[in-house]
Amino acid sequence: MAEQVDARDLKSLGGFLRAGSIPALGTSFIENLLDPKTPLKPILKEAIRLRRAHFGNSFKLHVLENAKKGGCSEDCSYCGQSSKFPTPVTPSAPLKASELIAGAKEAQASGAYRFCMAIARRGAVEADLRVVGEAVSFMARDLGLKTCFSSGFLDDAALDFLKACGLDRINHNLNAPREVYPRICSSHTYEDRLQMARRVKERGLELCCGFIVGLGESLKELAGLLQDLAELKPDAIPVNFLIPIPGTPLEGAPPLNPEQCLRVLCVVRLLLPATEVRLAAGRELHLGALEPIGFLVADSAFLGDYLTAKGQEGSRTLRMVRALGLDPLQA
Ligand code: SF4
Repeated sequence: MAEQVDARDLKSLGGFLRAGSIPALGTSFIENLLDPKTPLKPILKEAIRLRRAHFGNSFKLHVLENAKKGGCSEDCSYCGQSSKFPTPVTPSAPLKASELIAGAKEAQASGAYRFCMAIARRGAVEADLRVVGEAVSFMARDLGLKTCFSSGFLDDAALDFLKACGLDRINHNLNAPREVYPRICSSHTYEDRLQMARRVKERGLELCCGFIVGLGESLKELAGLLQDLAELKPDAIPVNFLIPIPGTPLEGAPPLNPEQCLRVLCVVRLLLPATEVRLAAGRELHLGALEPIGFLVADSAFLGDYLTAKGQEGSRTLRMVRALGLDPLQA
């Protein structure tokens, strides 16, 4: 039985946080941390302390490249790239290896530590793998740039091939809690995603695995997802905040509460203190004036645009990172 946090007892909460092993305390403890009635201050203080203890002043900036836009067969309700919804995204042909390499060089020159490529499909096809494999080999060998690839479900042979080409990391998000999944997607399940994430680790690749806040999840459901992440132990956790895309079933989703967004980010840090926690898509839209504080809890962020939505101008993000006394890691 998990211990309960008394929201009025700051001393007791501080003691629980410093004691560590929060995942072992169970989902009801995590749910209490997520509850707006529990004071945010001690949670935030501890999250900032842990971030500093594990990462010092270093900060990682990632550039995201949409290597094949739109036309995806899946029906994820939050996604502008699904072929099932009338979104403004026009499907495009996959980028060539030379175009990916040019993007990677530009990203590196702009201060990126990692170049993340995404292909909107249920799973990359052989031609995609050949192109990405060729580009990644160059990035690893000639640019020394860290790389990540995201393309739905990949079999073991594809994962092994990409690893042999020099790929560091695969992104495969859980996105929504188990209970929410049937409401937001009918073409695959939460369990499918969890299994894929586990296989990435089994094949010896780094795993980037996160979620989206704002899909109609309850605190209890989100706590369950965070508990799964704590058990999965990804190498990186991107925390996204829903950007409602016109034409998708979630286009009218209400704005999120900035304090609650910050709280979720802090709870992820408390659960996995030494894991890369990324302030990902939607930070600009939902954190508002609290955004700089989020940079003191996270240790990575995206530089520039997201897959189908505009992000903050890269130079502005860099200025903010430096103004906060953080040092962007260079590849
Ligand atoms: S989130 Fe990925 S799998 Fe789902 S529709 Fe978008 S591109 Fe396809």
